Amino acid sequence: MNNNNKLLEIKDLEVSFFTPAGEVKAVNGISYSLEPGKVLGIVGESGSGKSVSSYSIIGLIDKPGKIIGGSITFEGKDIPTMTKSEKLKFAGNDVAMIFQDPMTSLNPVFTIGNQIAESIRHKYGNLKKEEIKKRSIELLSLVGINEPERRLSQYPHEFSGGMRQRAMIAMALAGSPKILIADEPTTALDVTIQAQILELLKDIQKKTGMAIVLITHDLGIVADMADDIIVMYGGKIVEQGTVYNIFHNPLHPYTKGLIRSLPDLNTKGSKLIPIPGNPIDLLHLPKGCPFAPRCEYCMKVCINHMPANYEEADGHTALCWLLDERAKANVEVTK
Ligand code: SF4
Repeated sequence: MNNNNKLLEIKDLEVSFFTPAGEVKAVNGISYSLEPGKVLGIVGESGSGKSVSSYSIIGLIDKPGKIIGGSITFEGKDIPTMTKSEKLKFAGNDVAMIFQDPMTSLNPVFTIGNQIAESIRHKYGNLKKEEIKKRSIELLSLVGINEPERRLSQYPHEFSGGMRQRAMIAMALAGSPKILIADEPTTALDVTIQAQILELLKDIQKKTGMAIVLITHDLGIVADMADDIIVMYGGKIVEQGTVYNIFHNPLHPYTKGLIRSLPDLNTKGSKLIPIPGNPIDLLHLPKGCPFAPRCEYCMKVCINHMPANYEEADGHTALCWLLDERAKANVEVTK
């Protein structure tokens, strides 16, 4: 990744949840940056820290969660130390977020038109009624909703799941954000609608030039859309690279497992190979590599020592002892 032109930069971010059972290290020292107009896919299973790291950007970490280390900057400005009004402006205008289930974000007692108007007012202040209506119709058309004028007076329950997600995207776009964070935006939808929403996001990204952070458990979702991919496991970034790097030269055993678990659309009846083992227990993190208990290549060194983050010449990185010549040469394989 070229780091000269950063819109967003996250450095050594650590987020923990302080629960009665102990400290849950949800995000454990991650760093990445996002350039304007780029699509970054963040991939990992539940508990990997992919959503928590993104919620930290927009200030959505509430007690018992806390950012305990690192920095998050937007256009060079430190987000956690912004004033309240700067944060409001940032969260409403510069960055917007869409979630898996639009029903949790849409208010069932207000019309779609009212809710889009509210988002427009947040960005542009008290515009004239006609201007707001015009902009609302434009936004609904942009997200592919037919008869937008009529739809403005409908309530969320009158929309299908796919249309609700489109309406959410329209609301998110009302402030013309520079970054859209999409957290599993298609997980609750059926396959055909999923494809349509991804196509829509791609199309909007091209038209508006905004950057997108696409969070998903499904590597297949980001294959077509992302420029760069981050793979997270146990609160750490275990691999980071371009889409080409990740799919054609995966370095980390977890990434390889994710790729093996994708359906092969070219081979009829091909078997999905799930990654064996259970997701990591964040309350009891292993001493060494977080993936060690599930890794088919695990060596002795992996159990007791955290691997370094190895970087290839093109910026492709992976957190794995397999990339360390000394480990491969000197350490006995345990499995
Ligand atoms: Fe597997 Fe060791 Fe690499 Fe971890 S460091 S992914 S256990 S080979």
